Order: sequence, then structure tokens, then C-alpha cells
Amino acid sequence: MSDLKVQEGFVVSINYTLHVDGELIDSSQGNEPLEFLQGAGNIIPGLEDELYGMKIGENKKVTVAPEDGYGELDEEAFVEVPKDQFPSDIPLEEGVELQVQGEDGEPMMARIDEVGEDVVTLDFNHPLAGKELAFDVTIVALREATEEEMEHGHSHSGGHHH
Ligand code: ZN
Repeated sequence: MSDLKVQEGFVVSINYTLHVDGELIDSSQGNEPLEFLQGAGNIIPGLEDELYGMKIGENKKVTVAPEDGYGELDEEAFVEVPKDQFPSDIPLEEGVELQVQGEDGEPMMARIDEVGEDVVTLDFNHPLAGKELAFDVTIVALREATEEEMEHGHSHSGGHHH
């Protein structure tokens, strides 16, 4: 058995499930474990903080409040857009996701929140903003990060090199 514990400067591999409002919305099942550099902000802070001190094989249920996850719902991220500004091939229905060009030309994801008579309300919040996140996490591997990984601020295994 290894005595390694999750700490800053370690590459951590986890299997996990994520439930929101009782519904499974993400999981490492069927994929490689999720791997990241602890302490580098590669994953959401509310989860990263709870992993410190865990050992390989250890399992933990972590509930992350919105402010430590994807943020609170931002009322200013709801934007009303006149209907005639939408291309005709976009179905104007609640829940439809679309890509919109932001002010600086960057593509932004939005969801249709409400369809009115003349205007459509777009929601630019992250889909998980305002949600409590229920993680079930198992540590599957742990190793010290290389110098290069520390410099880059992320893990380099799993074919990730840049
Ligand atoms: Zn790199």
C-alpha cells in the first residue's frame, strides 16, 4: 500500500460521478479516469479543496455549493434579443442551445430561456450555474508531478503535451 496523499504538486487520477438535482449528469465511467494537477485550479475549487489528504482507493462524497462550483446564477447574463435578429433556421424554443458572437467576436454559448412575442431571452449562464453539485469521487492513482508539469500547471499523461 502506498502512503501517498493528495497534496499540491501531485497528479491525481479520479473516478467520479456528478449528480445535480438527483440526476446523473457526468461520470468517468467508460472513460479514462479524470487526471489533473492538484492545486493548479484544473478542476472546480470546491472539489479540489476536499481532495487534500485522500489516499489511493479512498472514496468520498463531496457536495459543492454554487459559489465553489460554477458560480451563482447571474441575472445580468439574461439578455433579451429581438426575434428578427435570429437566422430563420434556428428553432426558437425554450432550452435550445445556440452559439452567439460576443461583443469581442468570441463565440459564446447561450440557451433560450424564454420566447416572447417579439423578443427572445437568452441565458448566458453556465448550465450548472446556481446548482449544487454532488460528486462521488474515488482516488485511483497518485504521483508527484514532473517539473515540466508544474511549470505548465497541468498533467502531461494521457497524450496531453503542449
Ligand atoms: Zn503542458
